[in-house]
Amino acid sequence: MPPIAKEQAAPVQQKNNHPPLPHADASALGQILQRYPLRIPSHWQRRIDWHNPQDPLLRQVAPTPQEAEKVPGFCSDPLGEEQVQPIPGLLHKYAGRALLLLTHSCPIHCRYCFRRHSNEAKPSPQSWQAAIDWIRQESSVREIILSGGDPLMVSDRVLRELTEQLAAIPHLQRLRLHSRMPVVTPKRIGNQMIQWLTGSRLAPIVVIHCNHVHELDAAVLHALRRLRQAGVLLLNQTVLLKGVNDSIEALAQLCEMLINHQIVPYYLHQLDPVAGAAHFQVPTVVARQLWLQLQRRLPGYAVPRLVWEQPGYPSKRLIELGEP
Ligand code: SF4
Repeated sequence: MPPIAKEQAAPVQQKNNHPPLPHADASALGQILQRYPLRIPSHWQRRIDWHNPQDPLLRQVAPTPQEAEKVPGFCSDPLGEEQVQPIPGLLHKYAGRALLLLTHSCPIHCRYCFRRHSNEAKPSPQSWQAAIDWIRQESSVREIILSGGDPLMVSDRVLRELTEQLAAIPHLQRLRLHSRMPVVTPKRIGNQMIQWLTGSRLAPIVVIHCNHVHELDAAVLHALRRLRQAGVLLLNQTVLLKGVNDSIEALAQLCEMLINHQIVPYYLHQLDPVAGAAHFQVPTVVARQLWLQLQRRLPGYAVPRLVWEQPGYPSKRLIELGEP
């Protein structure tokens, strides 16, 4: 199998000619934006209510001076990912699965992102090659997860070559993609993308990341329907975020909309304690109450698992009723 092409062209055009952001005081935000720049794709921009500083989509992307505050327990690598890479850019945390970090680029910069401080070497098709060799030797791995950044920042041609290499590894059974792209830039879900994703012997799974029902407009639902009709299993993960979706109405509306479009509301994550995002944290006691209300309101299949991720555990941890 030839090595994967060097090209990593991002197919996404960014436009940042949006109305002014709240807290747009350059002196307060200068350093914050230097470390983690603003990125708001045009499709997302169009869905923001710019007259409402509390708009749930705006709050996810608008920087605030609170990001500069140092809060105990919040750090740059909250999941200890640097410790679980047998090969740089390959995470092996859980049995049977391995995760490939294809790129550090994203179509959007979510201000709560747990990888916002990632300063590892930029991944490239050359660095993936060592990871693929490792997977080939590790027969316990049955599922490969493409992540990043956002794996759909990589071109379809390169992703097709990568998928072909992975499909040639006999013990792999499933190909999972973690991407926010279907929600933030739905036009990225085109024929070529669907072809490489569904055209191999590996069972295709896409985990989208949607936090609020306003993210699911007609174009997004159309892109997701195309994936589903092509045979892709669709799951959603949501991060519980203060001021964005920390109400029973917001969560119930999101879960029902997902289920109505045959997307499984899979995980509701407690925020990973990443430096700069403490203002998004919802206390665990509140998270648990919200989850209990969801359970009372919705059928069981529409209620996501309430989880947090802690370094060193062999799986995500379910937040139990007695959790502090
Ligand atoms: S799309 Fe995902 S990886 Fe990228 S900034 Fe948002 S949360 Fe982080």
